[in-house]
Amino acid sequence: MGAIADNLQAVRSRIAAAARASGRDPAAVGLLAVSKTFGADAVLAARAAGQQAFGESYVQESVDKITGIADPGIEWHFIGPLQSNKTRAVAEHFQWVHSVSSEKIARRLSEQRPEALGALSVCVQVNISGEATKAGVSEAALPALARAVASMPRLRLRGLMCIPAPAEGFEAQREPFARLARLRDALCADGLALDTLSMGMSDDLEAAVAEGATWVRVGTAIFGARSAAATPGPGGA
Ligand SMILES: *Cc1c(COP(=O)(O)O)cnc(C)c1O
Repeated sequence: MGAIADNLQAVRSRIAAAARASGRDPAAVGLLAVSKTFGADAVLAARAAGQQAFGESYVQESVDKITGIADPGIEWHFIGPLQSNKTRAVAEHFQWVHSVSSEKIARRLSEQRPEALGALSVCVQVNISGEATKAGVSEAALPALARAVASMPRLRLRGLMCIPAPAEGFEAQREPFARLARLRDALCADGLALDTLSMGMSDDLEAAVAEGATWVRVGTAIFGARSAAATPGPGGA
């Protein structure tokens, strides 16, 4: 097997072990292979190893990849920052968006989602560590945004996503994920039907699975380190 197939197998084993350790069904945790900055060859290698769901962060790069690969068996998830002039491409090429953090962006995605594609599954991104520089809605603003998104006709609100500040150690990593899970539970108690917690990456997926992640988003542990030169800057998507 190639390196990507081996890495995928190792990540699947980590997910399964973490699920079993917390009494969860490993099948309840989806693996999103984050292929941003990597080419179609890397996606195809993972696909050949049975991977179905892929995460992308940069709009132009991902649309080129999606249309070039043209594999209807792949489920594409947009997980990066989204500017309003890029929403149409995302609405037309992705099945999921994990990074909705404003009503304006959500409204554009709903308006621009082609009728034939069915509702776009979305998560609201929460700035769970309250970092000034990070994307995501504040906890205080979450309920109103979730209600607004849930009412949009071409969107289906699935749940919440977060990228916590890096933390050392299992217990420290769990804490923000536990808070995201409680925020999801509160919205459910309030009448929203949310089945998704998108949380956990290469370095903290075990902690996220322990707190109920239904998607873990894993890049480096599958595809290797991303070269800084290949990564568009904040405005470069
Ligand atoms: C890049 C990225 C990931 C993957 O991170 P790794 O540490 O490489 O696993 C996950 N989520 C988001 C939103 C990302 O942008």
